[in-house]
Amino acid sequence: MNTRPVVLAIDDEPQNLFMLKAALEDCNFDLITAGSGKEGIEVLCERECAAILLDVHMPDMDGFETALWVRARGIHTPIIFITAIKQGQSYAMRGYEAGAVDFLFKPLNLNILRAKISVLVELFQRKREVEIKAVRNVESAERRYRDLVEGIPNGIVWTSIADNGVFNFVSSSAQKISGYPARDWSARRYFLIMISHPDDVETVGTAIGSLLAGAGHVDFEHRVIRADGTEMWMHTTIRTGEHRGDLEHRGLSFDITSLKKTEQSLRETIVIRDEFISIASHELKTPLTPLQLQIEGFQRLAKRGELHRMPPETVNRMLGVSAAQVDLLNRRVNQLLEISSIKAGKVTIEAREVDLAALVRKAVDLFEANPTIKREDWKLNLAEEVKGHVDPDRIEQVLVNLIDNAIKYGLGKPIEITLRENAGHAEVTVVDRGIGIPAEDQQRIFKRFERAVSPSNYSGMGLGLFISRQIADLHEGIISVESRPNEGSAFKLSLPLDLENVAGVQR
Ligand code: ADP
Repeated sequence: MNTRPVVLAIDDEPQNLFMLKAALEDCNFDLITAGSGKEGIEVLCERECAAILLDVHMPDMDGFETALWVRARGIHTPIIFITAIKQGQSYAMRGYEAGAVDFLFKPLNLNILRAKISVLVELFQRKREVEIKAVRNVESAERRYRDLVEGIPNGIVWTSIADNGVFNFVSSSAQKISGYPARDWSARRYFLIMISHPDDVETVGTAIGSLLAGAGHVDFEHRVIRADGTEMWMHTTIRTGEHRGDLEHRGLSFDITSLKKTEQSLRETIVIRDEFISIASHELKTPLTPLQLQIEGFQRLAKRGELHRMPPETVNRMLGVSAAQVDLLNRRVNQLLEISSIKAGKVTIEAREVDLAALVRKAVDLFEANPTIKREDWKLNLAEEVKGHVDPDRIEQVLVNLIDNAIKYGLGKPIEITLRENAGHAEVTVVDRGIGIPAEDQQRIFKRFERAVSPSNYSGMGLGLFISRQIADLHEGIISVESRPNEGSAFKLSLPLDLENVAGVQR
């Protein structure tokens, strides 16, 4: 504000006012005039003046009376009384009581008049500067406070009147976070309770109740139903404070939805880990028991010196059983190791040109000695030679897993393995006529630890198909199943033959 200060002169004699105007014309303030006390008061009610020059002797309302009315209106502008003659002390006292800061006597000494008014104008300007500065300071403090409050991205800062629960401030983040605009927050009492999830209303209500009962501070987690109907988790802290003599609640409600999700998934991970440990320890122990029995049997015979008397075919058979257990153990340990590599994204493939028909034959040969299925029940339908770029060890691992499952879940019935070339792909199908898989389980069994059988009927860790699918993916291939319960299953592995052109493959 750069307006010039204003000095008000009140006198019923126009020539006096005219004279004052002329005398103060070139000063750094504007002189405005009023012809009566009443008129002067009206001016003062409308604008702030730096000083008042007030003639004492006026008809109707004299200078003292005018001064009293001015003060009665709460206006504290300094007043200089102008009077004709020097009166006694009681006269001056009356003037000071009415609010005078000074007296000037007629005829006026213009230099003294100017000097006195200048001092008052100067004081007025200083005061105005200090006030402007104070307002600016308050504004900048408020702006900073607002910036701080609004700058909390995931939190809603709010205050509510303790007595009635009406929100009287809510940061603008409320709309973004909760979907409810600030006016909704202040429209109803205890809005935080209103928007809380029905199951958490009691938590919020109890917390606010304990604040009202005198607790200085509460802290709780609750769900909020956003304006769009979705659910979110909040952590709310409320403190009681005082504002203009009233108790208020000051709250910070923080969006902790993603934190909660992480917590939930960590909990699930712990459950999966515990499940996994119990499955893994069971599955690793199972092959150990027969192995231990075999070894103890041999030890007993050796102790009695009877080992050499055993017919070679018996020894061979017993060792065969032991070897099968070691093999099983080996495969399970490998699966477990593999799973951590997959989790760490460390599984890679090393593709080279191989004959997939030879690879399938090799996998089948590993099961030749298997007692569950008779030699004539293997039905192989393999193309002569199918050349492709694959990682032979990894693909053998998939085939062994599919054949192993076909035997395990195949009820000892014939198993048919087909290899054919189709549209640039090698397709291996392993078909059994065993227990089959219900439709609702056919996708799930490719996930980690997922099984569709009871562990008491069939041992297993639920990892084979998961690992097989990862390997198929790394080859840009597909592994799928068609099955009907009690009729059997057909697992198909389809691999592009020209893997050389598949990106990201290590060779
Ligand atoms: P595991 O056999 O160790 O349980 P897999 O990942 O190899 O683990 O298989 C997952 C689940 O898929 C099995 O537990 C079983 O329920 C089902 N499954 C797999 N292959 C067959 C099959 N040939 N016949 C019926 N069910 C099968």
